[in-house]
Amino acid sequence: MGLTMRETKKVKIGNIYIGGSSPIRVQSMTKTKTSDWKATVKQIKNLENIGCEIIRVAVPDMDSARAISEIKKNINIPLVADIHFNWRLAVEAINQGADKIRINPGNIGSKENIREIVSVAKKKKVPIRIGVNAGSLTILKSPASSWFKMQVKQRAKQMVKELMENIRIIENMNFADIVVSLKANDVPTTLLANQLFSKARNYPIHLGVTEAGTQFTGVVKSAAAFGILLNQGIGDTVRVSLTAAPEEEVKAGWEILKAVGLRKKGIEIVSCPTCGRCQTDLIKIVNQLEKKLSTLSAGWRTQLSTRQLKVAVMGCIVNGPGEARDADIGIAAAAKRLGLLFKKGKPIKKVPQDKWVKELIKEIKNLEADY
Ligand code: SF4
Repeated sequence: MGLTMRETKKVKIGNIYIGGSSPIRVQSMTKTKTSDWKATVKQIKNLENIGCEIIRVAVPDMDSARAISEIKKNINIPLVADIHFNWRLAVEAINQGADKIRINPGNIGSKENIREIVSVAKKKKVPIRIGVNAGSLTILKSPASSWFKMQVKQRAKQMVKELMENIRIIENMNFADIVVSLKANDVPTTLLANQLFSKARNYPIHLGVTEAGTQFTGVVKSAAAFGILLNQGIGDTVRVSLTAAPEEEVKAGWEILKAVGLRKKGIEIVSCPTCGRCQTDLIKIVNQLEKKLSTLSAGWRTQLSTRQLKVAVMGCIVNGPGEARDADIGIAAAAKRLGLLFKKGKPIKKVPQDKWVKELIKEIKNLEADY
């Protein structure tokens, strides 16, 4: 049974929507200097190719804001400008064609500064994400702040309180094209803050665990937080923040959505963990297969494919034949390092271990040609 997502306000970002009944969007952020528009475009094109649906760029200076129009001309996905501290950069980014801006009102200065941004955003119909991060709450500016001693519940409530204050400022300027985010660097605070907010208002929510860490820990933290929230119907777009290449963020975002059953695209590899019964060098084979699939030009390769293909690679006859039969293409190790290859549920031939990857790729290509 599919998940029931909370119905949020639908917000247009460039040529796509988030919120309402739109699919949960996968986004990432470039790691290049935005002012180097050529390098930034190159990175965005790579991300587009693997299924990134919205891209955010840092705008720390005027050169970066001015680069936005050139970047926009060369990419196909909506571009979000990320602004801190300086309201003039937000205004310039919008004027240069940004499809959305992300501000953290806690560091953008006076209400008058926010008013300047909102007035241009309204004129250009550009939505604003109000992103509240636990690490930049205004309460932290007070020397007497007891933030560091606060429990998860108090922290989450404080994040929601500051977000609501900022929403009210913008709403009072008759602006409602709002997306929000509530990020902490730990899962419990991120969960509670998003849960509390989602009960209060229906603006679309960008999910993220901020400063999540390296590829391994960041993916685990994000999967834990997003899995729980998405299962509760909370979240309209996801960004997996990693101290790693942005491609890894996009791949992880898609895998999390696929794991919770919210998006189904591309190739899913089903493989067993191996154990003492394993009849083949399965870990090596699956890694080789995954690598090969990522460089295939077949339409299955990317998340942009509208099709889904399940490939099972299994280590013995305990669960092997069952999983292999259930997949579009599957192989299960039997005795003497021979694998029994299944296609659409039917066994078709025996394959020696050193030919598994080659045979699987061949059958995947054949299947694609059949569609
Ligand atoms: S399928 Fe066989 S080898 Fe793989 S984990 Fe299960 S019992 Fe072990």
